Amino acid sequence: MRIGKISDNEKMIKIQAEIYCTNCGKQVPGGLRTGEKYAQTKEFEIEISEFKKKYLCGICRDKKRLKKD
Ligand SMILES: [Zn+2]
Repeated sequence: MRIGKISDNEKMIKIQAEIYCTNCGKQVPGGLRTGEKYAQTKEFEIEISEFKKKYLCGICRDKKRLKKD
């Protein structure tokens, strides 16, 4: 999964972060990827912590969407 800002020619790096679905607790497979430069910014730290607070896995996201319909 990609997060943050990645420029066209920028190298991507893999982030070692443990992220779990906030609803069912399932771990995100494969980790996260972002641009090499962006990964070193404060902005990125904030984004990743927000992402962890709100993350829903595909299944829970679908369920949520079905409830709304
Ligand atoms: Zn889930």
